Amino acid sequence: MEEIIFKSLESKFIKVKCKKCGKEQVIFERASHKLYCLNCKEIIAEPTGGKVKLTNAELLEKFY
Ligand SMILES: [Zn+2]
Repeated sequence: MEEIIFKSLESKFIKVKCKKCGKEQVIFERASHKLYCLNCKEIIAEPTGGKVKLTNAELLEKFY
């Protein structure tokens, strides 16, 4: 039996681009820990309790 899980709507992912090296990556918008660039290890987002705050990254796209 297939069920649509509406809770999944709360899980939003965003595509960001590292301002330092230009690497694009998809991150969880409500991450509870600091997120680092996969390429240059720069901190690209910090947790705020809700949506992450982008630090050294640029928002490209939202997957809702
Ligand atoms: Zn980078």
